[in-house]
Amino acid sequence: MTQYRGRFAPSPSGDLHFGSLVAALGSYLDAKANNGQWLLRMEDIDPPREVVGASDSILRTLESFGLHWDGDVVYQSQRHEFYQYHLDQLITSGNSYACDCSRKMIMAGGGLYSGRCKGRNINEMNAQHSIRFNNTQGVNSFDDRLLGPIVVGDDFAQEDFILKRKDGLFAYQLVVVLDDMAQGITHVVRGRDLLEITTRQVSLANHLHTSSIKYLHLPLAITSEGLKLSKQNHAKPLDLNNRKKLLNQALAFLGQKTPSNFNDVSQEELLRMAIEQWDVNRIPKSSQIL
Ligand code: GLU
Repeated sequence: MTQYRGRFAPSPSGDLHFGSLVAALGSYLDAKANNGQWLLRMEDIDPPREVVGASDSILRTLESFGLHWDGDVVYQSQRHEFYQYHLDQLITSGNSYACDCSRKMIMAGGGLYSGRCKGRNINEMNAQHSIRFNNTQGVNSFDDRLLGPIVVGDDFAQEDFILKRKDGLFAYQLVVVLDDMAQGITHVVRGRDLLEITTRQVSLANHLHTSSIKYLHLPLAITSEGLKLSKQNHAKPLDLNNRKKLLNQALAFLGQKTPSNFNDVSQEELLRMAIEQWDVNRIPKSSQIL
C-alpha cells in the first residue's frame, strides 16, 4: 500500500483562525492516525492578497499547537518555473489556450465561460489574456470519504477553467494539482468550501495522469449569517494563551471524543489521544455555526 501523504496548504492572507485550526487539525489527525506524513505547503501565489508576516505567523501558530509537519515547508512563490514549465507543455500540446474574455462578458452569459476563445490564434489576443484548460474530459463526480458521491452539473464540470490569470498570476487550480502531484499527496483533507471545485482538480489530474487522491471535506465553521469564517470576514486570530481549550473545541467541532478529565490532561496528551481515537465516521456532515 502507498504510504499516506497528506498536507495542509494555508494561504498567507492573515493569521490562522478557528476555521483554519479545524482544517489543520483534521488533516493532521487523519495523517497521523494512518501513520502517514503531514506536509506543509504555503500557498503564497497571490501577493495582492498576502499579509506581510502571515506565513511565519501561521508556522509559529501551528508549532505552538503541537502540529509539527514532516519535511521542509514548500513555498509556492518559489515554484514559478515549475508551474510555467507544465503550463507551456499544456499549451504546446493544445490542451490549454489563451482567452481574452472579460469577466463582464462571462457574467452576461450566465456566469460560466462558453468556450468562445477555443481555437483562436494567440497572436490575435490582447496583451492581457488568461490561459484556460481545454477541458475536454470534464469530470462531474468524485467520492468524498465523508460525504459520499459528490456530483456537479455538466456545465460546471466541462467549463474550460483558468490556469493562469490575466494579471499574470498562476491560478490556484493549476498549482494545487501540480504541487499535490509533485509532493506525492495521497490524501487531501480540507474545508468544504473547496468541495465542488475538486471535480476540476480531478479532471486536470486525470489529464496529467497523476495517481488518484482520496478526498475528505470537513464541515466549515460559519458565522450566524451563514458565511465561512475567514480572514476576509475578519475572523478573530487564534488566542495562543488558550491553546488547549481551542484544540478541545476543534476536536468537538470535528465530532471527536474529548476527555472528561480535561483539566488533568496536557495539550500534548490531548493531541496524542486525539490521534489514537480519530474516527472519520464521527465527523458531522454539515457546517456549524460558531
Ligand atoms: N490555500 C487554500 C486555502 O487556504 C487551501 C487549498 C487546499 O487545501 O487545496 O483555502
